Amino acid sequence: MKQRLLFLGPPGAGKGTQAQLLAAREGLLHLSTGDLLRAEVQAGSPLGQEAQAVMARGELVSDALVLAIVRGRLEQHQGGWLLDGFPRNLPQAEALDALLAELDQRIEQVLLMELDAAVLIQRLLSRGRADDTEDVIRHRLVVYQEQTAPLIQHYEAQGLLTRIEASGSIETIAERLAAVVVD
Ligand code: ADP
Repeated sequence: MKQRLLFLGPPGAGKGTQAQLLAAREGLLHLSTGDLLRAEVQAGSPLGQEAQAVMARGELVSDALVLAIVRGRLEQHQGGWLLDGFPRNLPQAEALDALLAELDQRIEQVLLMELDAAVLIQRLLSRGRADDTEDVIRHRLVVYQEQTAPLIQHYEAQGLLTRIEASGSIETIAERLAAVVVD
């Protein structure tokens, strides 16, 4: 089983759910920048205050801020990890490559969860998070296409990418994932 994984895919594709299941099953650190940012917002920290308005608009929080969070977690952690929601643009991917080189680690596999845009919007609308109103969802999908989708090429060129069909039940998708993360 691979130990250093990255989940890629549009909002609503189920990355968080599957990342959590897989990380728990394999004893990996589940590092979700969205979850960590929401925790900062909840706590009302200066970092959270800076992130809150940006997240509510469906824009990306600054690279420096997100990177500081990821660096802090990865430096402290021994063992495998699963990154979810990060990197989200090319500068973040390049910064991650540099950080991992520093830590003498490398990404072993990138799992791209693919799902139809209409299904994504339906899923997100039924979730009802603060940034899950229809206008903000549409904007997040545009941000994904413009800023995050280029990472597909980036990781495909490195031979790291595996595509996963993200429709079906949680269990079905978990089985698909389990079948591809074996060494
Ligand atoms: P989703 O996968 O549904 O878009 P996330 O929980 O991953 O939800 O992210 C929610 C919001 O948090 C994003 O819209 C963005 O504002 C912010 N965010 C999360 N990760 C990053 C990141 N790596 N870089 C910049 N902003 C981020």
